[in-house]
Amino acid sequence: MENIKVDIAIIGGGASGLMCACVASKKRNKRIAVIERENRVGKKILISGNSRCNLSNLDSKAMHYGGSFDKGLEFLLENFPPKKVLTYFEEIGLIAKADSDNRVYPLSRQSSAVLSVLRNEIQRNGVKEICDTEVMDITKVDNSYKLRCNDKNIFAKKVVIATGGKNNYAQKVVTNTYSSAMSIGHNITKLTPSLSPVKVKTNLLKSLKGIRAQGRVSAVINGKVAKTESGEIQFGTDYLSGICVFNLSRILNRAKNAEIIIQLLPDYSFTEINDMLFKRIKLLNNENVQEIFTGLFHKNIGIALLKTSNIDTSKKAMSLSENEVNTLAHTINKWKFKVLPSSDFSNAQVTCGGINGNEINPTTLESKKAKNIYLCGEAIDIDGDCGGFNLQFAFSSGMCVGEQL
Ligand SMILES: Cc1cc2nc3c(=O)[nH]c(=O)nc-3n(C[C@H](O)[C@H](O)[C@H](O)COP(=O)(O)OP(=O)(O)OC[C@H]3O[C@@H](n4cnc5c(N)ncnc54)[C@H](O)[C@@H]3O)c2cc1C
Repeated sequence: MENIKVDIAIIGGGASGLMCACVASKKRNKRIAVIERENRVGKKILISGNSRCNLSNLDSKAMHYGGSFDKGLEFLLENFPPKKVLTYFEEIGLIAKADSDNRVYPLSRQSSAVLSVLRNEIQRNGVKEICDTEVMDITKVDNSYKLRCNDKNIFAKKVVIATGGKNNYAQKVVTNTYSSAMSIGHNITKLTPSLSPVKVKTNLLKSLKGIRAQGRVSAVINGKVAKTESGEIQFGTDYLSGICVFNLSRILNRAKNAEIIIQLLPDYSFTEINDMLFKRIKLLNNENVQEIFTGLFHKNIGIALLKTSNIDTSKKAMSLSENEVNTLAHTINKWKFKVLPSSDFSNAQVTCGGINGNEINPTTLESKKAKNIYLCGEAIDIDGDCGGFNLQFAFSSGMCVGEQL
């Protein structure tokens, strides 16, 4: 079996590992290797943001994240904020620009640009990429660490664990993501999918597949509203999707008794919706009840609202009882869906959970379990909202570790 010796081994050639390699290799006085189990580095960067790579968000604040690394998060975002990361990207050749929602993209809107500048920089600085190599575990051997890989051993004085989350670039679930960290004694918190569609228990959605609506969505856990988001809701056969739903998924996917409530007309109160319905009914008179929704919602959404309210969809508008109108107004105001907890990572953008944040030094990101081993990126128990927050954390933490090495 081949033996390779380096000064610094970075396990994982994703956003955090590559940023770490760039910063650590600046001085060019160390042998650095990035070890990647795939046949090339940065595959997830390429598919991020629909291949446009939303690499940062100028509003990256702790409130946009959750997880057990909360102590380190504030320090990190203060000392390695979007501005610092974006200035660094500019130095290595990437021009990026924020849109009106603070989401930052490369000017070319091509994720390949982000990967190219990171790879160009590590190549200029002599970093070795070792691909098709999966690290199984880490053991201490004299003054260095031995990384046992599928077909070789790599010895390094310092090690960075940047292995990402449970979901992978091709949305396939992989195995040895946390084994390096576990082999040196780290605990992994509960892993659930995040920034994913939310599965709901209903037959009503079948006819809504592919339909979109604007609205407000709330995650309700044990009867209490836990988080609310607004935006475009996308309907699937048995799930709800869209950025606003994604942002509730970290809470909903791990809750036992959860509901999602859609407000299709969030700017109107129940009374205003009720009054609006009565006015429309008066106008429609003898026409079918489905016409009430013309100009408000997609026809199929109207039918689903009627069915949820137990109203016969073939009725004439004028034959609706006062009770039925009230029920319909309630449904439009608060359309409730029972959530089915999910452990399906195949469509999740990030992993909620990971290496326990309390086992990591909050300012250096060095492991509290083993000296000279550092952790960065999504492998840590931190996940962010949709909109550039996750890559921002990956780059900030990668930069922080790179400066320590
Ligand atoms: C479809 C999709 C779109 C996304 N879009 C965005 C977006 O626009 N904006 C945003 O902020 N976030 C986005 N994300 C999330 C973001 O991509 C991740 O949070 C980020 O890439 C995490 O970086 P990382 O370096 O921690 O992990 P990764 O990028 O996952 O890199 C980890 C690397 O480690 C390798 N690895 C794992 N285990 C081993 C091992 N044992 N041995 C060797 N190598 C190993 C993996 O193959 C991988 O290449 C998206 C995610 C997905 C799936």
